[in-house]
Amino acid sequence: MQDVYQYIEDHKEQYIEWLQDLCRIPSVAAQNRGMQEAADHVLNDLAEKINGETQLVSTSGFPVVYGKVPGTKEKTLSFYNHYDVQPEDPIELWEHPPFEAEIQDGTMYSRGAADNKGNLMARIAAVHAYQQVRGGLPLNIKFIVEGEEEIGSINLDEFSDNHADLIQADGCIWEFGYRNADGRQQVSLGVKGMTYVELVCKGANTDLHSANAAVIENPAWRLVWALNTLKDENEHVKIEGFYDRVQSLSPEDERAVRDLIYSEKEMLKQLDLPSFLLDLEGKSLKERLIFAPTCTICGIESGYTGKGAKTVLPSEARVKLDFRLVPDQDPYEILQALRKHLDNHGFEDIEINEMAMEKPGKTPYNDPLSETVIAATKKISNLEPTVMPMSPGTGPMHVLCQKHGIPSVSVGVGNFQSNNHAPNENIQIEDYIDGIKLIATVIEDYAKI
Ligand SMILES: [Zn+2]
Repeated sequence: MQDVYQYIEDHKEQYIEWLQDLCRIPSVAAQNRGMQEAADHVLNDLAEKINGETQLVSTSGFPVVYGKVPGTKEKTLSFYNHYDVQPEDPIELWEHPPFEAEIQDGTMYSRGAADNKGNLMARIAAVHAYQQVRGGLPLNIKFIVEGEEEIGSINLDEFSDNHADLIQADGCIWEFGYRNADGRQQVSLGVKGMTYVELVCKGANTDLHSANAAVIENPAWRLVWALNTLKDENEHVKIEGFYDRVQSLSPEDERAVRDLIYSEKEMLKQLDLPSFLLDLEGKSLKERLIFAPTCTICGIESGYTGKGAKTVLPSEARVKLDFRLVPDQDPYEILQALRKHLDNHGFEDIEINEMAMEKPGKTPYNDPLSETVIAATKKISNLEPTVMPMSPGTGPMHVLCQKHGIPSVSVGVGNFQSNNHAPNENIQIEDYIDGIKLIATVIEDYAKI
């Protein structure tokens, strides 16, 4: 592969520019900004840069950009990525403008650099370099680039049901990946699932003077009381049946947890915290991070929260809640269990609005794709990767992969301080270039097995 690596080194300025061009489009799905432009841009890149057969596949929301590049062997490797990004707020905390892709001291700063445009462009560049050096690909490559990942992939189920033929592949490289503080690459073999809901509690049909609080019920209090029944101080979720389907750890999972390097001190220092939740450390911390389902209050809204005092009795209270799920928890079963739990605790009046549902997805260690990616990271970095049996995060892996019988492995160009979803999102240029080499290596090696 030295010839391909050399080509990548010789053309890295060009590959960096390709990424900057894409990062400069503010494709914020949540605010419907720059979405068409980003979809067209990716479609053109796939068609013009790597000669892909492309189509813009419409959905009930933003379209999926699809591209196929044929190879010599009847074997297919697919890439799942997304062209949408999170909103850039709070903008005042950015040290570089969020959509200018400035590079300083070997780091590129941009919303979307790590999540997920850097990974997408590294894959396009890898295919390009391989084609330029070898004249063609050893296997078929498919790109599935959606535009709604950051808003919960709300129409990917529909895409998955209608386009099994486009999705079909022998293996899929999932969207993300990071380098740890110790320089090791992280390889993830799965993602957690999710039940995301909004709970709405209503009181009087209008906000009132809070003098009325003596006789009129306050929906904010009622919502707080309902939330208080969901989880105890030991972080145990009290919804009946919540843990029923949680699998126990396999010997491989146990080994992966043991081998996982998690920089506790650095993490605490970076976050300015004295300790982890429940004073967790060592194996129990890592085990919980990867294998524990969660119940999280993501935001609460009610009444007056502006400057100064306003004595008001709110008419409504809302909370957004996410539950991260592990195999074999089912998001719809958890939703039903939540409804039942609220009813049983006297909160029949609290509405549940379903926001996003994902099943967890997981690929075995001994799958040829897992083995190929793990070996490729060693070739590029000369370091053993950190293999995560599951990422603590969530993605629509199940609908695009496990549901279709496709194994899936996640690896990418981010770093442990990439600040995804936060101000000053960034990637290291070196990681980006290594990421291009890594994907070129996976293309070469996966075609051989
Ligand atoms: Zn994201």
